Amino acid sequence: MNLEVVTIGTELLLGFTLDTNGAGIGRALAALGIRVVRRTSVADRPVEIRDAVESALARTGAVITTGGLGPTRDDITKRIVADLYGWPLDFDETLWQALVERYRRRGRIPAESNRSQAEVPRGATVLPNQCGSAPGLWLDGPRGLTVMLPGVPLEMEHLLTDEVVPRLAARGGGSVIRSRTVRVTGIPESTLAEALGEIERDIAPLTLAYLPGLDGVDLRLTAWDLEPAEADRRLAAAAAELRVRAGEVVYGQEDEDLAALVLDAARRAGVRIALAESCTGGLLGARLTAIPGSSDVFVGGAVTYADTAKTALAGVPPSLLAARGAVSEEVAAAMAEGILKRLDADLAVAITGIAGPGGGTDDKPVGTVCFALAGGGMTASSRSILIGTRSEIRYRAAQAALFLLLKRLRLSFPGPELGRARK
Ligand code: AMP
Ligand code: MG
Repeated sequence: MNLEVVTIGTELLLGFTLDTNGAGIGRALAALGIRVVRRTSVADRPVEIRDAVESALARTGAVITTGGLGPTRDDITKRIVADLYGWPLDFDETLWQALVERYRRRGRIPAESNRSQAEVPRGATVLPNQCGSAPGLWLDGPRGLTVMLPGVPLEMEHLLTDEVVPRLAARGGGSVIRSRTVRVTGIPESTLAEALGEIERDIAPLTLAYLPGLDGVDLRLTAWDLEPAEADRRLAAAAAELRVRAGEVVYGQEDEDLAALVLDAARRAGVRIALAESCTGGLLGARLTAIPGSSDVFVGGAVTYADTAKTALAGVPPSLLAARGAVSEEVAAAMAEGILKRLDADLAVAITGIAGPGGGTDDKPVGTVCFALAGGGMTASSRSILIGTRSEIRYRAAQAALFLLLKRLRLSFPGPELGRARK
């Protein structure tokens, strides 16, 4: 089954409100095997609403709208769709009494304008709204199927889950659209694509999307219109193939967070982690401590921003700072070794770099970040050039440091292939 979504509200076009309703409907319907083939947002204007619904019905015969069901003058969706179907609006006394009762429980009485919310297009099914005053409406007629849902996201979600999904599932044929994600980091998208080769051909009919972001690249596999068991079987096989081809840059799956995976790996290995951060200013510590239960693994660290702090807190010799500069592999190594010793941890990571927008040189352009890992009697340092704005460079630096930690922990203490750690 194909379907279109029309989200209604001038605020969506002005950019004040993000269309989370459209996204929520897409996710819920994919799980049912229903394809959302087009999503349109229109202002609270009669001509635009009518045109959007009419043309969506002409294309697919099924449309879900959100918004414009409230009691105010700009809420006109119901009137327009009823008109399109040629169905008059009837005042529904039962619905009105339920609304009055709902207000009464809150010690209020509904306004005259609320009466419009009790009007129902003749022939429509009312979808009761447990969380708000505007019910959903299900119109199944010669024009096709139109489902109208309120715009308030919480109300929309409830109606979608409780009323719309079961009704649509009853119409569907038992196939699903299902996705799986393999998360990789520390590799440019193009290099990754080369490593994966002609994978699209080999995993067909599944499709593969590259979704680059600040965490790295998410590889999203999708099975379309398959029986649930068949979809799962093919997705598992394709995800395994992706892992083999991508290699060590794979760090997780679905919505796993790298910081949580690092903590899991360190916990299994009995390793306590410390850190010294310069350009990230505490971002790495924040990522680790955002995970509940981090205290048994994360000892702490220092934000050694100025040279004096690198010396005072991490014991970096001033002579080394003078000779190599604060952004150098040597200083990163000294930071890691210094904090390791000072906090008596098992493994320490250090970050020092140039987040920009100023401060770059030919030798060390903006985005140059040096990392070091110290522990187990050895220290290793490395240098990368990260891209983006100041905040993107800082986030990428923290993510890269986490990946260094994970790789070291995997190498020294190989455990289960992947944890199931979530934020
Ligand atoms: P309405 O049903 O048109 O009165 O919408 C009520 C409120 O829901 C609006 O003020 C928005 O804040 C919110 N809203 C409407 N449409 C959407 C949408 N597509 N995504 C997220 N929020 C929305
Ligand atoms: Mg509105």
